[in-house]
Amino acid sequence: MKIICVGRNYADHAQELKHEVPKEPIIFLKPKTALLQNNQPFYYPDFTEELHYECELVLRVCKNGKHIQEKFANRYYDRITVGIDFTARDLQRNLMEKGLPWEISKAFDNSTVVGDFIPITPQMDLQNLSFRLLKNEQVVQEGNTRDMLFSFDKIISYASRFFTLNIGDLIFTGTPAGVGPVEVGDYLEAYLGDQNLLSFQVL
Ligand code: MG
Repeated sequence: MKIICVGRNYADHAQELKHEVPKEPIIFLKPKTALLQNNQPFYYPDFTEELHYECELVLRVCKNGKHIQEKFANRYYDRITVGIDFTARDLQRNLMEKGLPWEISKAFDNSTVVGDFIPITPQMDLQNLSFRLLKNEQVVQEGNTRDMLFSFDKIISYASRFFTLNIGDLIFTGTPAGVGPVEVGDYLEAYLGDQNLLSFQVL
């Protein structure tokens, strides 16, 4: 099982980090050990002083595939939730400045927190899904899939040119503007529409 993540998939977030808006999806991977599920406790790691939340919609792969055409991509995922792609921003910045791979800032243990998956139904308009993150009961991030640079199907199609998709893989589809720091004691809650699918405390 692997976690495929997309960077800078919302133009407003690319701009807040002063990155160019990409012409193709920016893909990176996280290993299984990065996954934290079932509202397990999250502990602030000791190697960063600038841990950022990035709230994202997460797809679960339901079919093995490679070189998936965009028009068939919707057959390859059947569940969705909200998740947090935690990022040690200080480490990431240092590594990026040196042009080095930034895995340790993104793919560390428990860096990827996912909520409860719900089935994708034909009634869901995947081009118009809203989601949000609350920190200590204040809304800190709000996104809608209509603002994605690359659709779910485009991400699946593109990523599967390089990586075989396997049942159970997760796909993090990018974060909107509003990323920011967390501190010990913060309480995070993430919603898909009006459904609270994830809540946990930073310990
Ligand atoms: Mg992210």
